[in-house]
Amino acid sequence: MARIVLDGVTKRFGSDVIAVNDVNLEVHDGEFMVLVGPSGCGKSTLLRIVAGLEEVTAGEVQIGDEIVTDLPAKEREIAMVFQNYALFPHMTVAENIGFGLRLRRVPRAERDEKVKRTAATLGLDGLLQRKPAQLSGGQLQRVAMGRAMVRQPKAFLMDEPLSNLDAKLRVQMRAELASIHRRTGTTSIYVTHDQVEAMTLGDRVAVLNNGVLQQVDTPKRLYDHPQNLFVAAFMGSPSMNLVLASIEPPNVVFGDHSLRAPEHLLPDHRGDVILGIRPSAFRASASLDLPELEVEVRMVEELGSEVHLLCTVKARPVIRDDTAAASGDDAEAAEPSHLLAEEGTTPFTAIVESESTAQVGDRVRLSVDPRAFHFFDPESGAALATRTGSGPAAAISATFQRSERLGEPPRQSANPC
Ligand code: ATP
Repeated sequence: MARIVLDGVTKRFGSDVIAVNDVNLEVHDGEFMVLVGPSGCGKSTLLRIVAGLEEVTAGEVQIGDEIVTDLPAKEREIAMVFQNYALFPHMTVAENIGFGLRLRRVPRAERDEKVKRTAATLGLDGLLQRKPAQLSGGQLQRVAMGRAMVRQPKAFLMDEPLSNLDAKLRVQMRAELASIHRRTGTTSIYVTHDQVEAMTLGDRVAVLNNGVLQQVDTPKRLYDHPQNLFVAAFMGSPSMNLVLASIEPPNVVFGDHSLRAPEHLLPDHRGDVILGIRPSAFRASASLDLPELEVEVRMVEELGSEVHLLCTVKARPVIRDDTAAASGDDAEAAEPSHLLAEEGTTPFTAIVESESTAQVGDRVRLSVDPRAFHFFDPESGAALATRTGSGPAAAISATFQRSERLGEPPRQSANPC
């Protein structure tokens, strides 16, 4: 086991591509670090740099106590697992797992012992004599892991190792990976573009955009206290609702809406801001004294345990490169940035209880706890601190007060949710 330190690592391809830009990152001994970001943000390049498969343009790489920047891959004592695990089809599971040891001329008895121990850790003991064609996708992936683990490397590097598996198997393998990591305690770096995978697997998560490290933190802190708009928009599903607003104490004003908040929950910054509210900030429990927001329901997604209401509010949307990159959109093409939003409106998603009866066309009033507000600088995109810190001060609650069919008189039933 070993810690891994990246110090000012930059990688250029040719004169115009900066794949990795001055990254400083320390992965602690035994830590499971996830690198996450949209396609092309530089995460695979960074992993390949740690592996020794890519040379740095500038900076240093340290594994354990050794600077390995100029050391070839095979001398770094790390193991890598890729999305395409490429097992040898003519070899058994045992031969595949032991292949690296055989190349290193490890004596047979020692090799067999290590293969057996690794297979047991991975639950492959009963499958050692099978060929890859006789295994399921999840079993194949475990053999690939076994091949990497058997050498007892200083660190594991994994590049989207689960992306070839179907959704259900991926969830299962994720849990297995977490459990293998708990048992072995090997320092691991795991690359994914899937923020749910990042949140569930990582001790800490490093978020990258455009080759630049945006924030390194625990999943919970990334979610609760994103340091900038990119992280706010990228982490969390559905994404954080964002709208251009202004601070006019004691109110946050956007479009026709004015949400009252205690001064200590507002940033010192006056004038224009970007207001962020997570979809989960909206709930169907009745609550007094909270500011209200009227939205128009454009689509209803029933997920069984909860309902997603895709709504619009009358206010200017946020159109920026960083938030577009986070949602995989093209900022220039996105005006407004949501299929359901018309000009001058902003899309908002609210997660409500499954009992919700809100329907497309309803106009619903939400009340939102101001402790759930996030504020960002509209120029830099940096989070703006309130007197209680940045991000929501505490758990939030929100309430549907009443609903009206568009163009129809109010319904007799007071609450659509
Ligand atoms: P994905 O999730 O799509 O695999 P990524 O975040 O892993 O993306 P990288 O593969 O690290 O991204 O690529 C980062 C940037 O560097 C991209 O713009 C990519 O086109 C560029 N790049 C990567 N490898 C090379 C190369 N060998 N030559 C030129 N450009 C490259």
